[in-house]
Amino acid sequence: MLRVFGRLENSPFSKDKKRPVILSAKSRLSRLLFEDVHLKYFHANRTFLHSFFNSRYWFIGGCTNLIKFVIRNCIYCRRSKATNLNQLMGQLPADRVTISRPFSSCAVDFAGPFTVKCIIGHAYTTYSTWQSSFVGSLELSTLRWSPILLHRSSKMP
Ligand SMILES: [Zn+2]
Repeated sequence: MLRVFGRLENSPFSKDKKRPVILSAKSRLSRLLFEDVHLKYFHANRTFLHSFFNSRYWFIGGCTNLIKFVIRNCIYCRRSKATNLNQLMGQLPADRVTISRPFSSCAVDFAGPFTVKCIIGHAYTTYSTWQSSFVGSLELSTLRWSPILLHRSSKMP
């Protein structure tokens, strides 16, 4: 092993700190050392690994990318740092958040496909239809009582 000789020979530091071992950051030995220390110290973070290895080794090309690689590929650390995604919710329309008489306005939240049975001749036929045709038929049936439904369904694709 090659060691760095500097001007710290008369210092009270340990031998490893006075003369750190030279390693390549791209070698397999370096990666195994980082993985071992990361697991040995209970999934140590980036700062700890930096200070631990910079006091003992001299990495050619720096060790920042290797530390990122080791922590990124640790399954336990990835699971523990995972965050849940938040669903973006739209604002409710004014007629749904204000008090009104029952059935003064109505809407359909579900978008289909809906299975519709039709009688053509003597045979039953099943069709699959989507929200727009369902709302269209609902709109026609409730047109007299609910002008709000007509307005909202006209915005739908
Ligand atoms: Zn880890």
